[in-house]
Amino acid sequence: VIEHGHGEHAVSTTCAYCGVGCSFRAEMQGETVVRMVPEKTGGANEGHSCVKGRFAFGYATHPDRVTTPLIRDSIADDWRPVSWDEAIRFAAGRLKAIQAEHGRDAIGGITSSRCTNEEVFAVQKMIRAAFGSNNVDTCARVCHSPTGYGLKQTFGTSAGTQDFRSVEDADVVLVIGANPTDGHPVFASRMKKRLRAGATLIVADPRRIDLVRSPHIEAAHHLPLRPGSNVALVNAMAHVVMTEGLEDRAFIEDRCEADSFADWAAFIRQPQNAPEALEGIIGVPAADIRAAARLYATGGNAAIYYGLGVTEHSQGSTMVMGMANLAMATGNIGRRGVGVNPLRGQNNVQGSCDMGSFPHEFSGYRPVSDDAVRQQFEALWGVGLQGAPGLRIPNMLDAAVAGTFKGMFIQGEDIAQSDPNTRHVHAALRAMDCVVVMDLFLNETAAFAHVFLPGTSFLEKDGTFTNAERRINRVRPAMRPKTGKHEWQAVCDLATAMGCPMHYDHPGQIMDEIAALTPTFAGVSFARLDRLGSVQWPCNDAAPEGTPIMHADGFVRGKGRFIVTDFVATEERTTRAFPLILTTGRILTQYNVGAQTRRTANVVWHAEDVLEIHPHDAEVRGIAEGDRVSLASRMGATSLRATLTTRVPPGVVYTTFHHPVTGANVVTTDLGDWATDCPEYKVTAVQVTLANAS
Ligand code: SF4
Repeated sequence: VIEHGHGEHAVSTTCAYCGVGCSFRAEMQGETVVRMVPEKTGGANEGHSCVKGRFAFGYATHPDRVTTPLIRDSIADDWRPVSWDEAIRFAAGRLKAIQAEHGRDAIGGITSSRCTNEEVFAVQKMIRAAFGSNNVDTCARVCHSPTGYGLKQTFGTSAGTQDFRSVEDADVVLVIGANPTDGHPVFASRMKKRLRAGATLIVADPRRIDLVRSPHIEAAHHLPLRPGSNVALVNAMAHVVMTEGLEDRAFIEDRCEADSFADWAAFIRQPQNAPEALEGIIGVPAADIRAAARLYATGGNAAIYYGLGVTEHSQGSTMVMGMANLAMATGNIGRRGVGVNPLRGQNNVQGSCDMGSFPHEFSGYRPVSDDAVRQQFEALWGVGLQGAPGLRIPNMLDAAVAGTFKGMFIQGEDIAQSDPNTRHVHAALRAMDCVVVMDLFLNETAAFAHVFLPGTSFLEKDGTFTNAERRINRVRPAMRPKTGKHEWQAVCDLATAMGCPMHYDHPGQIMDEIAALTPTFAGVSFARLDRLGSVQWPCNDAAPEGTPIMHADGFVRGKGRFIVTDFVATEERTTRAFPLILTTGRILTQYNVGAQTRRTANVVWHAEDVLEIHPHDAEVRGIAEGDRVSLASRMGATSLRATLTTRVPPGVVYTTFHHPVTGANVVTTDLGDWATDCPEYKVTAVQVTLANAS
């Protein structure tokens, strides 16, 4: 914090929007933000920023902010403002009553990828130690959980392999199912700089995203694959590598498991994986797939960057493993310019996963079922912990509808709007006896809550966020908490009221506890972060200044593991009634469910959700530009305006999910990734009709 006098001060902190994790200086006049200035010293942004980080901070002081705890006996009642003590007593009383009557497995909670590592760690600790169950999950369940699973299976750890800077050494950039220009703008600028300097671009995406052709950049190949055919595509590319002798034999022999490679090689060479056999499924000519595969394998350093277009599928985890196979087979791992890199969505989605938010893993991705690991946590926390994994978000919701799950703590997450199959989510929330929501605003989920604990914005938080390149950045408070309490303090109070004392004087002590219990964070402390600016985990005795590039000398799991990735078509099929495929995404000037961006005073932040439809599909339906249309699936229906564009291919429509009025997730299905239950947001069979003709 730099004091300028006259009530002015400046605080160095981190953007709370996307997983790029840009560093900013918040210039303050008292409690008012005068401007946000991107920090030249920021490890992730080096002085750059996008419009959201620079201008969309008004939500922090928006009149919709709730600053007093609220309670009510039933969701039919009006809210009653109460003191923190009364709200905590009320929540603890209800949760303990459920514990007593239905057992400790009848309650659980969700951590938020919007909150700091310290806040997330506190919530998962409260659930495991005070609630007494491992029923803890994170909103990463619905975005990058397949990344965690797939990269751990193949490489040994659930994180991207490179730092952002690494793209400067890439010769070939393969972007799959990501739209960095809108989703990760500052990293996109870095990538574009490298592309303009001569790197070659391959884009695999059903839509012709801006990156395919932008000033001085033209993709060598745009593969407009059908939604749901990712695994077929990556298998076809790997088939080309393995049947044309393009593999890196030395890397495979030196760095990878011989047996798993032999099994995978035998599988991938089969004729069923040839581009010619799969082009009908993928919807891309075999010659284009062959050309892209040859370029990836022979073009020098080749780096994969991917997003939710990879993970939010019934084979999301399979696809992550398929990309890892491809990178290992071509030796594109373990040095600058290569790698398999998830472009994580939310500011702290990496951190929320790292902090032990999964029902089967403590912080650092160590199994709750491992006795030695569990005993370490039990010793420090002074309680007995369950060794069996708990419920995931969809399991908690199903159990609530079935009547066996009764209470939930929801930290900074609007599942009533953001999770798939909205009707089912609402039914589950309605069925519970105690829903505790901690958030900035009375969001859609709060409509089903009995306790509302007001949360803090990033400008009030003190802690750390971890970005998509595993960089742990400091978040420093520019103003006092408007609620009178930090979130981690409220969580400690609730745990204590439930009979499990939890106390810290400062969030730095929570980080010290994280470091003591998490080998990859063993060297992380607020003091080290303040000295170095930021650090990329693993940070420990072996790497005291952090680890920008992972798997450099050996994989975290020892040898890299190839995994057979059979293509299995999704159960979601087009039919005569629902002949189009809907896929969803984000735009630059909105953020997820829009809770923050829609509360920023400038019309640029208020763009409505629109449906992109190909002119051919529009014409046969009598739809013209700007018409209001009905979007219906077997799950439900909504309406929105249509825009006619060749950006989407015939047969595919696209929209965003930023507005509760549109509620795009009313139509998405309850299908999900086979390994992680990550919802299949990217493939929904729909029909589109003129709104007044449906
Ligand atoms: Fe914030 Fe992401 Fe924009 Fe950076 S790129 S300013 S982290 S929203």
